[in-house]
Amino acid sequence: MTKEYDIVIIGGGPGGYVAAIRASQLGFKVAVVEKGKVGGTCLHAGCIPSKALLRSAELYAQTKNARAFGIIAPEVGLDFSLVQDRKEDIKDRLFKGIQHLMKKGKIDLYEGKGSILESKDVLIQLNNGEGEVIVSPRKILIATGSRPRTFQGLEADEKYVMTSDEALEMETLPKSIIIVGGGVIGIEWASMLVDFDVQVTVLEYADRILPTEDKDVSKEIQRLLKKKGVKIVTGARVLSETLEKGEGVSIKAEHKGKEVSYSADKLLVSVGRLPNVEGIGLDKTEVEMNGMFIKTNEFYQTKEATIYAIGDCIGGLQLAHVASHEGIIAVEHMAGENPNMLDPTLVPKCVYCSPEVASVGLTEEEAKEKGFQVKTGKFSFRAIGKALVLGESDGFIKLVVEEGTDKLLGAHMVGPHVTDMITEVGLARVLNATAMDIAHTIHPHPTLSEAIGEAVLSIDGKAIHG
Ligand code: FAD
Ligand code: NAD
Repeated sequence: MTKEYDIVIIGGGPGGYVAAIRASQLGFKVAVVEKGKVGGTCLHAGCIPSKALLRSAELYAQTKNARAFGIIAPEVGLDFSLVQDRKEDIKDRLFKGIQHLMKKGKIDLYEGKGSILESKDVLIQLNNGEGEVIVSPRKILIATGSRPRTFQGLEADEKYVMTSDEALEMETLPKSIIIVGGGVIGIEWASMLVDFDVQVTVLEYADRILPTEDKDVSKEIQRLLKKKGVKIVTGARVLSETLEKGEGVSIKAEHKGKEVSYSADKLLVSVGRLPNVEGIGLDKTEVEMNGMFIKTNEFYQTKEATIYAIGDCIGGLQLAHVASHEGIIAVEHMAGENPNMLDPTLVPKCVYCSPEVASVGLTEEEAKEKGFQVKTGKFSFRAIGKALVLGESDGFIKLVVEEGTDKLLGAHMVGPHVTDMITEVGLARVLNATAMDIAHTIHPHPTLSEAIGEAVLSIDGKAIHG
């Protein structure tokens, strides 16, 4: 007899495990099949470990600058093994937390690789050679996530070429590094490594780094990273076949019509992530694909009505909070509820470089392309008392608002703690608030959030400190 479940979830990342908890709250009998560790990429090879390293790098850079605060720290050293220990400790604590939540929700966790059978049962090849189990679900949720994309010739090796997976496990820091791709991962690592005193060169194919952010944001973060010493080459087409390994690595890129050679100790490839859709039995189903990704409707149901898919494996915004929200919507839909659909223009996007970047809604360019008559307001952190007190006054807040209706279309931020501040504008957009509603919101003094209020006022030239 195969064990029966209401829902079997393949993949226990922030999509899968959050969906499992919500499903258990809804009274479903749930199992999660996870071939690695629950928590997925986000906890074990993504959000959390990278942010732990970024925090150490930021603190190291700040401590070197302690004299500016009147603090005399004659010798500031770095023990990277302790940095890594701290990262592991944080991962461990959160991992235990998720395991506890699974037990609390009476969710069965199968440690192994799951794949869908012709019968729509799920075959689990248990880890550690413990054999196979077959479970019988009424519904299946695919949440298998993604893995780093590389180019032919630029695959990770034991020594020189890394993706974020290997970079997170580095035992020592290189003296220099080439980062191929100036997207989210590339820029977080550039910021972290330069703060750790590594010489960093970023080679980005587009004409600006963070090319999906507002143009003003890309320009400002490029200026600030260059000020820290990061070499940034945009419009660079990396020629992976020119990679040479020896003392370190060298690689050529086509830049402004010329082939230019770059060399460093190591190379990090951060050019996007591929969905994990192979070997999970999709060929035994009616599930359709959307390019490389699994195709779903707005409730994450695939063409085969009993099979749902969420998170990085369906594409769109590959973010942990998006995967989790999609998981909740999917299981609520399975329960016959009518959950709100996820609107990508309400999703905050954050980059944890130093200073941070955060945005929600449309960029100025996107708003104009969509035909909106747009007005913008911008306010610099230089005029914000709290930013000066923190010693972090680089950056700005930019708001994109519709002429006439005053509707808030987007917010774009570079600066201290903006990844925490973006939620104010996110909530304002959820509530359909106007820019004036934000102006009427009292921002306490002295706080960084005053920059949001001032940015709104600046739209009509009414900023007090601008
Ligand atoms: P995953 O987290 O990838 O989880 C999928 C799980 O499925 C994995 O545990 C995998 O082992 C398992 N699995 C796969 N196939 C099978 C199978 N056949 N059987 C059983 N199990 C299987 N996002 C943010 O929002 N904020 C950040 O700060 C952030 N930082 C990041 C930093 C880095 C370096 C990286 C790489 C990513 C980062 N992300 C961040 C993205 C985030 O990690 C992903 O969007 C998120 O993890 C996607 O969740 P998921 O559940 O869809 O997939
Ligand atoms: P990305 O899509 O953000 O950036 C990839 C970059 O590589 C792009 O700017 C692209 O123009 C560039 N590129 C592509 N081909 C190139 C080439 N041949 N030469 C030079 N540059 C090239 O992807 P990523 O940075 O690898 O991140 C992967 C995913 O992980 C993203 O979707 C992101 O959402 C997620 N992530 C999120 C966070 C966060 O939320 N803070 C952090 C890390 C990763």
